[in-house]
Amino acid sequence: MKFSEIEYERPNVQELQEKFGHLINLFNKAESFDEQDALIRNINDLRMEFQTLGTIASIKYSIDTNDKQFEEEQDFYDSNSPVFDGLVHQYYTAIVGSKFRPQLEKKWGKQLFDVAEVTLKTFSQEILEDLKKENELRTDYSKLLASAKIFFDGEEKNLQGLIPYMESTDREIRKAANEAKWKFFSDNEEEFDRLFDDLVKLRDRIAKKLGYKNFVQMGYDRMGRTDYNSEMVSKFRSQVEKFIVPIAVKLKQKQQSRLGLESFKYYDQPLDYKSGNAKPHGSPDWIVSCAKNMYSELSPETNEFFNFMLDNEMMDLVNKKGKDTGGYCTFIEKYKAPFIFSNFNGTMGDIEVLTHEAGHAFQAYSSRNFEIPEYFFPTSEACEIHSMSMEFLTWPWMNCFFKDQTEKFKYSHLKGSVIFIPYGVSVDEFQHWVYENPNATPLERKQAWLAIEKKYLPYIDYDNNEFLEKGGRWQQQRHIYMSPFYYIDYCLAQICAFQFWKKALENREQALVDYLRLCRAGGSKSFLGLVETANLISPFEDGCLESFMGVIDQWLESFDDASVN
Ligand code: ZN
Repeated sequence: MKFSEIEYERPNVQELQEKFGHLINLFNKAESFDEQDALIRNINDLRMEFQTLGTIASIKYSIDTNDKQFEEEQDFYDSNSPVFDGLVHQYYTAIVGSKFRPQLEKKWGKQLFDVAEVTLKTFSQEILEDLKKENELRTDYSKLLASAKIFFDGEEKNLQGLIPYMESTDREIRKAANEAKWKFFSDNEEEFDRLFDDLVKLRDRIAKKLGYKNFVQMGYDRMGRTDYNSEMVSKFRSQVEKFIVPIAVKLKQKQQSRLGLESFKYYDQPLDYKSGNAKPHGSPDWIVSCAKNMYSELSPETNEFFNFMLDNEMMDLVNKKGKDTGGYCTFIEKYKAPFIFSNFNGTMGDIEVLTHEAGHAFQAYSSRNFEIPEYFFPTSEACEIHSMSMEFLTWPWMNCFFKDQTEKFKYSHLKGSVIFIPYGVSVDEFQHWVYENPNATPLERKQAWLAIEKKYLPYIDYDNNEFLEKGGRWQQQRHIYMSPFYYIDYCLAQICAFQFWKKALENREQALVDYLRLCRAGGSKSFLGLVETANLISPFEDGCLESFMGVIDQWLESFDDASVN
């Protein structure tokens, strides 16, 4: 089924509720394991039907945000998805309390029940109104970001439109673009503060209503984390401070001398080479044909996958008018089809987005035959292993995209991945502080951010930008407002992807075998279970970072700056 041929019709929620309620009733009254087992299939069919329609509507809307029909459909799902969540909640309550649970667990796996239990903890009818309020505040933040109208280079731009200027080889342009961006944040500082203050206090209240001490554990539960806690994450951050921060500092010094700068300012960070960052050599169609060849050579499995994506039109890659920003991969459950969305804009980011989202999509494709929706994707830190590792496993084909700039690309890619981690753990540590101190003032939060930044990002020089020097940088980080505690995921996954990078250098075949096994396992295991499945060292284990950081450091050290400038 090609994407363009898939029909869409708005689901009938009342009918869904009736059918669902009926099946739950039968489930609760069932007298045998076989009966309940069959009902689980029926219930999941209903869920997948609804989810499929919701996914199609959201893809269509993101491809053309000016489409009135699908704009209305978005409103429909915004107000009806809590109803759907309530039904899933009933289903989870039923299976968790089933008298045939041991047999069901044996058949469907323990992970389904762990997911159900952790989801149940984070919801009760009592917090329904609070959840609606939380959604409103999220939307307000999103709207505030989208409202940015910044006059730059002779025309009005949004925040996204400033990005190419921030990579400019002209330092004055980089500086001006950054100052224009942060002026928008500074002009709206009070509103950004108020929204966050409301969100923090609201989340704290919700957590306490549900019996949590504060929002921290609830945040972990919302992310579906069943096998690690905040103490383990805190230990992980100390490992980053010890083993990665010093290397990041060194990389910044190397970058500064490569750029020939007397001092290294915050706006110099996105530019890696005097001659400009690596760029793909060609049109989007040509990029796709390179990718087709790459996936045909990478493995028979990736070949089948990429042809499936092309034959069924499951990719919308090029930036066009009316399209939503960013990139994502989703899964159309009923058709067992992943879908990739991106906005190619001619930078090296195009190739990173393509291989990243293809990693997510390849996992979804590899585990598409699971019969329960919980297993189509794992928790997000595990999902990012597929995507970030795919970025590295495709390195041998980068010369097709980058020609003479391939080495520039590889260096920027690996260096950028290392540099990201200290920032990532800063965002994570900040959120722990925020939700452990829910009554702190906006000013105190900014001071806390500054102290954390000093520890993990000691090289930051804000060049007298008042807003940034006051501790406001985190206000641009969507996750902090939208999905609390969703950030360490990228760091944990990157640690796993680095292990794939190293393994691919030493034994490419073994790396691919492990990667395939991981993708096929989908969401059938918890994060650490999947880490084991992939033959990786847990990021929480002592010695994990040392096991590969030396090799990465050496590879980056041996890079010849003079050859690329
Ligand atoms: Zn991703």
